[in-house]
Amino acid sequence: MTQDRKPSSALGTNTQLVRAGYDPFDYHGFINPPSVRASTVLFPSAEIMDTHAQKYTYGTRGTPTTNALCDAIDELEGSAGTILVPSGLAAVTIAFLAYLSPGDHALVVDSVYGPTRHFCETVLSRFGIEAEFYDPAAGAGIEALFRPNTRLVHTEAPGSNTFEMQDIPAIVEVAHRLGAVVTMDNTWATPLYFRPLDFGVDISIQAVTKYPAGHSDILMGTVSANEKHWSRLKETNGALGICGAPDDAYQVLRGLRTMGVRLERHQQSALAIARWLEDREDVAQVLHPALPSFPGHDLWKRDFKGASGIFSFVLAVSEKAQHKRKAQTFLNALTLFGLGYSWGGFPSLALHVNLFDRRVAPPPSGGPVLRLQIGLEDVGDLIKDLERGFAASV
Ligand SMILES: *Cc1c(COP(=O)(O)O)cnc(C)c1O
Repeated sequence: MTQDRKPSSALGTNTQLVRAGYDPFDYHGFINPPSVRASTVLFPSAEIMDTHAQKYTYGTRGTPTTNALCDAIDELEGSAGTILVPSGLAAVTIAFLAYLSPGDHALVVDSVYGPTRHFCETVLSRFGIEAEFYDPAAGAGIEALFRPNTRLVHTEAPGSNTFEMQDIPAIVEVAHRLGAVVTMDNTWATPLYFRPLDFGVDISIQAVTKYPAGHSDILMGTVSANEKHWSRLKETNGALGICGAPDDAYQVLRGLRTMGVRLERHQQSALAIARWLEDREDVAQVLHPALPSFPGHDLWKRDFKGASGIFSFVLAVSEKAQHKRKAQTFLNALTLFGLGYSWGGFPSLALHVNLFDRRVAPPPSGGPVLRLQIGLEDVGDLIKDLERGFAASV
């Protein structure tokens, strides 16, 4: 006898995560979906082949494994449809390509993920699309930057590396009134802590490389659209032929099952360390939206359900010429924090943030900015490791 497996919005987040996207009785009761790899899918007759009247037609258009992940993400995002792409960066670029045309103007938040800025300034610019970077604090004031050809507003909150918050509902109101689509890179919060579509955003983007995959080994991006914008996204995805691999989709779906408990731990540990840093005299500032001292804290508190495990702090170094050397001395003294890019996996990571590309929002002064991804280690051990960094960089 099969149970009623229909997802219910009344379920708690962790219950939802355990069930989302796949019914084991669709595949003989096996708890996890099979990893179905495909280019060719056979049709039972020439007539059905002619009309494509079956669920699967070709590997680039989805397999039961990639579909299971898309369905799970739709449940979490509340979206009409989701596409999978091979990286988080590709998720941003494909969204831009779907909604922008030559001659268009796009507004992109200045605290955006660096490679997104690079895409705007190279590929988009070559295609005759102008991206203008705006202050993350703009809120409703973004209206002053709109032109008759403004078609897209890209948001990311908290911002990359410096974690500026944005007033998403205020930006959505202006953008929709003036006919622009709103995209949001929601990688930091995941839909567990912020659901962009509930706040009026049209397109929610995640580097599921981070918390959903969760183990520092898989690269994948998801783009989820509301009803109004889904067909254009799906069509662009099909035209470009960019798809996520079934084996990677399998791993991301497996990661989702434990993401709720992992995120809770990342949140707790990161907050404990952020508070510990805030009390130190050799720290000029802690950039973490869940700290009441952070400028965007009120927005975070109003709109978000939680905080994830990545934030930055400013090491107090008065002399500008010493910033890089002090930052490197600090990082070299760490033994548990790895020096590496990306985040959302189990190990803690640290790096010296490069903010030279900021155009509008001034980067924090007072010292070098160090970014920490707080992993699943014990907080006491991580604090001892950070103490080694402070001791080395006096
Ligand atoms: C990491 C990241 C991406 C890119 O993800 P990849 O899978 O590494 O390409 C995009 N946006 C944000 C905010 C990120 O942190």
